[in-house]
Formats: sequence, structure tokens, C-alpha cells
Amino acid sequence: MTLQGEIPQYYVEEHHEPIISPDLFDFVQSEIKHREQNGKHSGVSIFANKIKCGCCDGWCGAKVWHSTDKYRRVIYCCNKKYAHKGKPCSTRHLTGEEIKQTFVKALNSLVEVKENVIAELRTLIDSICQTEELPEERDKVEQELGVLAERLETLIYENARVAQDQTAYLKQENEIRALYVEKQEDMEKLDEQIAERERKRNTLEGMIHALCGINGAQVVFDEALWCGLLDHIIVKEYGAIVVVFKGGIEIGVDG
Ligand SMILES: [Zn+2]
Repeated sequence: MTLQGEIPQYYVEEHHEPIISPDLFDFVQSEIKHREQNGKHSGVSIFANKIKCGCCDGWCGAKVWHSTDKYRRVIYCCNKKYAHKGKPCSTRHLTGEEIKQTFVKALNSLVEVKENVIAELRTLIDSICQTEELPEERDKVEQELGVLAERLETLIYENARVAQDQTAYLKQENEIRALYVEKQEDMEKLDEQIAERERKRNTLEGMIHALCGINGAQVVFDEALWCGLLDHIIVKEYGAIVVVFKGGIEIGVDG
């Protein structure tokens, strides 16, 4: 039985660009969602918080040169170039076109060795999955919480049933409540750690799917691949550029 007014959804695989596999598409969607959840809304440049200054480790931002004349152009350079005592950062600026070309070059190098990279990513995933203590610890804390809740319930029930010294009773009740809050915080922390680990694993798996979906050399810059695969770019002091892909894979590109 179908619900009235339900709109049928058709999923047409053929409509994807050949270079972006459905897996990569899903991966990019989840990355975009993650970015939004972290307060970095799309709408800002795709280069924002992606280019790092190799001198001071700070982010590079967009600056407009010749904003009013025909030579107007946007360049990306260290946001804190002159903010340090002593020498200003010596890293060079990049144009948007240079950034795009650098990414395409690095991606092609990555794809060339993709079998090795995939093997490396799989090892990383294995090492993340092997640490089973976190879920075990969480289960233990959850059980302890259950015991505390039961103790509290019994205590409250007994107090309602039998007349007793209220000062001593309240002291006991507060002790259990404090312990409960403490354990609850422990559990929240563990949940966060588990979620973070899960996210890391998804990112690495997404990288593998994405790499499997890319065949042959890229010629043009692809924004989806940039958003989905790149962690950040480092502009080194002496001109070289290092492209860091998600999962920490670094590819050096001569500047
Ligand atoms: Zn800098």
C-alpha cells in the first residue's frame, strides 16, 4: 500500500558524471553536511580554510589586488603575513587557477599510485577498528548507570514507605545522584570518542571508494573531488606545495 500524495522517487544512475561514482557522490554529500554542521557554511569560497601557510601554520585567505582596475585579481596568501614579530611570512601567494592546477597535479599523482594508497588506507581502517576498548568501556559505564538508577529508585521507594532520618537519607540520595551525573558525563565522552572514530573510518572508506571511482588522469579541476578528497594544502617556505588528502596522504608538488 502506498501513502496518498507520495511522490515516487527515481534514481537515475546514468545522470552522474562518469568521473564521479555514486559512492563518491554520497561521500561528498556527507562531507558537505559535516562542513555545515561545523559552522563552515558553503557560500564561502571552496578555498577557505584549505590553504595553510608553511611559515606560521596559519590559514591563507583571499585578497583582492587592483580591486578597481582591469588588473583586478584574487590571490590567496597568509592571513597573518605581517602579524608576527620580526620577519613577515615568506610563503608566496597563489592564484585560484594555481591552486586548481596544483590539486589536479597532486590528484593525478595520487591516482597513479592508487593501489598502494588504498592498501595504506585499509591498514589505517584496520588499526582504527581494532581498538575495541571504547565500546566495551561504554557498555560497562551504561551498566553502572543502570545499577545507580536502580539504587536511587529503591532508596526513594523505601523513604516513602518507612519513616527515617531525613538528613541521612538526603545525604545518601545526593551521593548517588552525584555519582550518576559523573558516570553520565563519562558516557557522553565515550559516545563522542566512538562517534569521532566512526567519522574517521567513514572518511577513510569514502577515500577508498572515491579513489576506486577515478580512472585515468584528470584534465580539469573538479570541485566535487576537491571538497570530497582534500584535507588541506600547505604552501612551503621555499615554493614547494604539499597537498594533504583526507586520511593524511601527502603529495608534494613543485611550485
Ligand atoms: Zn604565515
